[in-house]
Amino acid sequence: MVTDLGATELRTNILETAKRIVVKIGSSLLVQSDGSPNSRWLLTLADDIAKLRAQGSDVIIISSGAVALGTKKLDLDSRESLTASQACAAVGQINLARLWTDMLQTKELIAAQILLTLDDLEDRRRYLNISSTLEKLIQTDAIPIINENDSVATEEIRYGDNDRLAARVAQACNADCIILLSDIDGLYDRSPNDNDAKIISDIYKIDHTILDVAQGATSDVGTGGMVSKVEAAQTAMSSGIDMIIASGKKEHPLSAIQKGEAHSLFHKQENIAEKGQKKWLNGRLHAQGMLYIDEGAVQALSHGASLLAVGVKGYDREFVRGDVVEIIGPNDRLVARGLSEYDAHEIALIMGKGKEEIAQILSYTPRGALVHRNHMVML
Ligand code: GLU
Repeated sequence: MVTDLGATELRTNILETAKRIVVKIGSSLLVQSDGSPNSRWLLTLADDIAKLRAQGSDVIIISSGAVALGTKKLDLDSRESLTASQACAAVGQINLARLWTDMLQTKELIAAQILLTLDDLEDRRRYLNISSTLEKLIQTDAIPIINENDSVATEEIRYGDNDRLAARVAQACNADCIILLSDIDGLYDRSPNDNDAKIISDIYKIDHTILDVAQGATSDVGTGGMVSKVEAAQTAMSSGIDMIIASGKKEHPLSAIQKGEAHSLFHKQENIAEKGQKKWLNGRLHAQGMLYIDEGAVQALSHGASLLAVGVKGYDREFVRGDVVEIIGPNDRLVARGLSEYDAHEIALIMGKGKEEIAQILSYTPRGALVHRNHMVML
């Protein structure tokens, strides 16, 4: 469903009332076309951040730009290979850290750097560890500056874009709003190159219309594009976090949003009861295995039941107890995600069976469910 309320008032309200805001800055804003940092613009952003802090909001920055800065310093094409982009990131990140330290220093704010890989947020213990570190930094009034650890992340363990990283960090630090600042001022209803294209101001649900229009715009310097932004919105909305896509092309980009500059607002879903482990499960990008279930089980899950062996028709991959599994219904529909109570090899023996039969097969009293409802999120 797409509606256009033109609700400037609502936006003003969001930024003024948000207790914790994650702001993601794309490479194309931080780094100018000649490869040098856009310090002048950053000073205006630092000023906006200081204002938000003064109003009582916590600010967490997700900063791209390492690869782009390093590309210039090394005179190396980062697109040449993964190792080339890792080398660029290694050189660029150290400069990026200094840049942020200097910029925030002008407002007497302290920058704190955290570099993350995908696994840091996919693994539950590491996720909790990062949540506590973020909380501590925020309490001490420092501004966390987060980027993907590009110089060590390989293809398999990297986000590759900071949009989804921003959504995941927002979950980990219980933010109530994410602002993705990029070189485009919102999600357009058709290709932004089309003269009739209009920004979709309010998005309440990510449906096929939204996914289709997201295929359009790309950015020259960053890696994000609109698809990863919409994916980030999906994670944010379903975790009760509002997300804004706005242009950072202007000076004072955050104040500009407050003053009603055009942008897209993805509204959080209301009544999100999920907390802690369930929230973490909701944002995970990777699962170790799959469980295929029948329609009856889909219905049972949608009414709040746990997943029983009797409703499972198949499984995939060699996962073990405690691993995250995707629960897939008829027609390959992703229904839920949860923690498996059994190893895959046990599931091979007990799927489709009732409790008593399972007890005989396993020769021990079976656990109540294959995936308990307390360890499951519906998607
Ligand atoms: N992490 C990358 C960098 O710092 C940017 C990824 C992105 O553009 O989203 O260069």
